[in-house]
Amino acid sequence: MVLALDQGTTSSRAILFDETGAAVSKSQREFRQIFPRSGWVEHDPMEILESQFETAAEALSNAGVSASEVSALGITNQRETTLIWDRATGRPVSNAIVWQDRRTSDHCARVRESHGDTIRQKTGLEVDPYFSASKISWLLENVPGVRERAEAGELAFGTVDTWLVWNLTGGGVHATDVSNASRTMLFNINTLDWDEELLGIFGVPRFILPSVIPSSHVIGRVSSAEALLGIPIAGIAGDQQAALFGQRCFSEGDAKSTYGTGCFLLQNTGTSPAPSEHRLLTTVAWQIGDRCEYALEGSVFIGGAVIQWLRDSLGIIASAAEVETLAREAGSSDGVFFVPAFSGLGTPYWDPTARGLLTGLTRGTGRGQIAYAALEAIAFQTAELLEAMQNDSHREIPELKVDGGAASNDLLMQIQADLLQIPVVRPTVTETTSLGAAFLAGLATGVWTDIDQISAKAAIDASFEPSISGEEAADRMAKWKAAVEKSLNWVADGGD
Ligand code: ADP
Repeated sequence: MVLALDQGTTSSRAILFDETGAAVSKSQREFRQIFPRSGWVEHDPMEILESQFETAAEALSNAGVSASEVSALGITNQRETTLIWDRATGRPVSNAIVWQDRRTSDHCARVRESHGDTIRQKTGLEVDPYFSASKISWLLENVPGVRERAEAGELAFGTVDTWLVWNLTGGGVHATDVSNASRTMLFNINTLDWDEELLGIFGVPRFILPSVIPSSHVIGRVSSAEALLGIPIAGIAGDQQAALFGQRCFSEGDAKSTYGTGCFLLQNTGTSPAPSEHRLLTTVAWQIGDRCEYALEGSVFIGGAVIQWLRDSLGIIASAAEVETLAREAGSSDGVFFVPAFSGLGTPYWDPTARGLLTGLTRGTGRGQIAYAALEAIAFQTAELLEAMQNDSHREIPELKVDGGAASNDLLMQIQADLLQIPVVRPTVTETTSLGAAFLAGLATGVWTDIDQISAKAAIDASFEPSISGEEAADRMAKWKAAVEKSLNWVADGGD
């Protein structure tokens, strides 16, 4: 058995897998999203821990399995989210600043101006509040005493994987894996080390940083969470990289798209970092032994989160699943376009000042048309990622493998196939993020001896074929892009 902890943006999950890669049991808890001000998003680090440890214990007890029967623990996590804590007490100095948080937009605009090219070349990333570096700077400058305590060596920085490992090992291990490190904007993806120049640009002292290890590697045993005592912690990867691994995208050119809180399209590009000409990110996919592989990535900040917004802020649906019924009843968006730029726009625009918009409304517009437009927004954004990826790699992606919570929506998947004009393929196991973390962990402890053992094709749940013409798809995309232009220019055009 291999246990995967999937600490996501909206929920913590734990899934127990057997040696065939089948899920034996599962537990999940949502936790609080904290929005202290416009554009700010935080999580309580203790809620992250509690929800994650509770689900882990529950996944084992539901299956009647004890810690001693678990060969390996794999961790996958929401990426970039930034925490700083006291090394002596383990107490965080503040809430975690979540990847979607935009509070450092102005700082990033200044850094982009002077160092944008250097940073892209060294990290593969666009300067944006999305990544950890400016969030660390913010904590150092704005939380009283943090700069001084950091300089005195009293504090530790970590992304969520590092926070979990620290707490699972009773403060014994302060480490992250290469895939998570590559999202901090402080890590040089060419040398695979923290970079002094980048640390200087963001004013980050080197000794608050964790050590960096391969993604499939035993780093210690659980020594503090009762139900998991003694299990080797053997795999770590950021959620999107883990999903790429779990979808078995092991060969150069293989791609997958995840529809969670955000949407993320990743393509395996092999053992050397491939720079992008279309504003995709270059990122570390994973490292196994000495072999480091890279990916191109397109990131959309608001994907499934737009459906949560319909549920929690507009109140036009009671559950995420209801959006499909409502949209199907409407049959179309009837000319409504919804650009959910709630956290600015990521790939390919990289504009933290973009604001969301809902346009094309008439007296006939109701909940159904808005629901339909929200689903289309998810698909339009992902189609733009695929377009950038195909332009970069100059090769057609023959089919798209999908996963994530919103990939269960058949209407969304059909709209996606229509816009992309290629088949969209959903595997039976959509928990590919957890599966990827489990694979990485199990490979390090001998549950699986090599990648060949896990590379058998995944069972397919459904395949969605394009049902509209190429011209019609191109026309829809052009209209979408016109709406995005308005969203991008909102502030420049005088919107507040
Ligand atoms: P994360 O790992 O980012 O927390 P998940 O993969 O668990 O995300 O997916 C949750 C997201 O999927 C939520 O934003 C939710 O609104 C969305 N979602 C869940 N079910 C559906 C559905 N049937 N249709 C559309 N969106 C959905």
